[in-house]
Amino acid sequence: MSTGRTRAVRLTRWGGPPVLTEVAPPVPTGEEVLIQVEAAGLCRSDLHVIDAGPDDLPYLVPFTLGHETAGRVVRRGPLAGGPGIGERVVVYGPWGCGSCARCRAGAENYCDRRLALDVARTGTGPGLGRDGGMADLLLVPSGRLLVPVGDLDAVQAAPLSDAGLTAYHSVNTVRHALGDGTAVVVLGVGGLGHLAVQILRATTNAEVLAVDVREEALALAHECGAHFGTLLRPDTAAVLRDRTGGVGAVAVLDFVGSRSSLDPAVAVLRPGGELAVVGSGGGELTVRKPGALPPGTRISLPFWGTLPELEAVVSLAREGVLRVEVERFPLSGALEALARLRSGDVRGRAVLVPDQSDRNP
Ligand SMILES: [Zn+2]
Ligand SMILES: [Zn+2]
Repeated sequence: MSTGRTRAVRLTRWGGPPVLTEVAPPVPTGEEVLIQVEAAGLCRSDLHVIDAGPDDLPYLVPFTLGHETAGRVVRRGPLAGGPGIGERVVVYGPWGCGSCARCRAGAENYCDRRLALDVARTGTGPGLGRDGGMADLLLVPSGRLLVPVGDLDAVQAAPLSDAGLTAYHSVNTVRHALGDGTAVVVLGVGGLGHLAVQILRATTNAEVLAVDVREEALALAHECGAHFGTLLRPDTAAVLRDRTGGVGAVAVLDFVGSRSSLDPAVAVLRPGGELAVVGSGGGELTVRKPGALPPGTRISLPFWGTLPELEAVVSLAREGVLRVEVERFPLSGALEALARLRSGDVRGRAVLVPDQSDRNP
């Protein structure tokens, strides 16, 4: 492994732009594990982090971006557990306290102590106040946060840690409602939505109805197994309701979360249905009885996912059931990739691959 300086895409001031710079290679101590990054996915929430004002997020700059990372264990602290040197892994992203009841159950995404922790000092995960995976090397606090991926392509593995995991957790949140003869709507067929369609097809019998503003996204939804797709228009809810024989959908997974997605989401929901708001699009819902929400509606705000769920997602991918649509960029092309993501011009997930040519072995 190189002992020279290594590259990292760092947010050095709020509002960006991030910079590709050189940093000293981190050295693992205690339980820490050092990963040589093979692939790092880009996420819309990276744009939210970059665009945030100085008081919007409880983190301190600078830090390296990137919360979807796959790579190889290259060095371990003296107390490190988990995968050994040379093992290929994906990094679980929501880093909790590791010791509360939720964390001990593997649900660090819902760590009981997250708000109590000094997150400005510790961050909440890689690329989220802590140095992340858009780099040659990533320091992980503990081996418990690593899931082995075997020979799964790193470019496929990296997006599983957020896009795959969040989609899987969202489906799990509404899974109990998805019996035979039911319909589920996937709103937004981007990085997460196209995986949700595949997970729904692989693990439920529900009819999958996809909605997006882009024709290409509907084509992708169809390739992923959606039974039906329609563009987001003023009459979308009526079109979907018609498709369900007038009954409506028993569940809606809204991967957008904007006003323009929440309106049709509510309008297509069947009484006693499940609305999972996954996207952070800034839309608001009014909860009032009686009101626009159908009687019996249950609303959830799934956030990321659990370690056992990440293991399940990795298993689906290794079985070939789950295939991430990816567009590759070299690490040196990170800024271009972020610009493409911002313009909505990426099919599926953008993934950075550290260029092998200019890195020491
Ligand atoms: Zn993300
Ligand atoms: Zn915890």
